[in-house]
Amino acid sequence: MRTELDVPFSHKEEAKALGAKWDRTKKIWYVPSGVNPEPFAEWLPGVDRSDPSAPYIYLVLGKRECWKCHKETSVAAFGIPYRTDNDESIAIAHAPNEAGHIAIDTANANALAIVPALGCVPGEIRDYLHKRCGYKPVGARASKAPSLGNTCTSCDALQGSRYLFEEPSSPFALTAINKLPALEFVRVEVAGVFGVPATRTDFDQALFTWARDHHAEFHKQLGEGIYL
Ligand SMILES: [Zn+2]
Repeated sequence: MRTELDVPFSHKEEAKALGAKWDRTKKIWYVPSGVNPEPFAEWLPGVDRSDPSAPYIYLVLGKRECWKCHKETSVAAFGIPYRTDNDESIAIAHAPNEAGHIAIDTANANALAIVPALGCVPGEIRDYLHKRCGYKPVGARASKAPSLGNTCTSCDALQGSRYLFEEPSSPFALTAINKLPALEFVRVEVAGVFGVPATRTDFDQALFTWARDHHAEFHKQLGEGIYL
């Protein structure tokens, strides 16, 4: 019987060199039947082999009652790790660039900003979120420039970011730790450069700790970068 592995994208060459095989259909690495799986121990499912220096973001899934049909719908946002100075609650360690963005430094991150959208969403993430919730292209009729947004899975009504981020019952209006168990965090390793808008809150550090300790992993390989 073959042994299936949990190989992060950044480790794939290493696993391959040791003899792991790629299953194209299941998109998973495995140790072929008859081969000793011992050298592959670090990639056995359930083993914590998180590499804190690998660039990553979180997909954040929450639930909200649809404003239109009042059924519960799943909604998504993005969690961007960044570094904040511990001495001051809102101080930022890195100076924002001209665009008002802070470069992400996932190796030293201690805070997490939740944002409604990324400037560029790789197709794999778009497809995953479309399956998990009503996150999909929404037409902006006037400009004809479609963007991605949350829609109700029952009635298709757009769930605007104000509704999801700014009201007291919004899933992503995060001010207290007791709102966090209602969220699901999926960690995604990403390639490329990305940043976070420079206005953040001191709750971001609690959020970072929570996400670090309570997350699933996204298994698809991402070939595209992400930016904000
Ligand atoms: Zn609805």
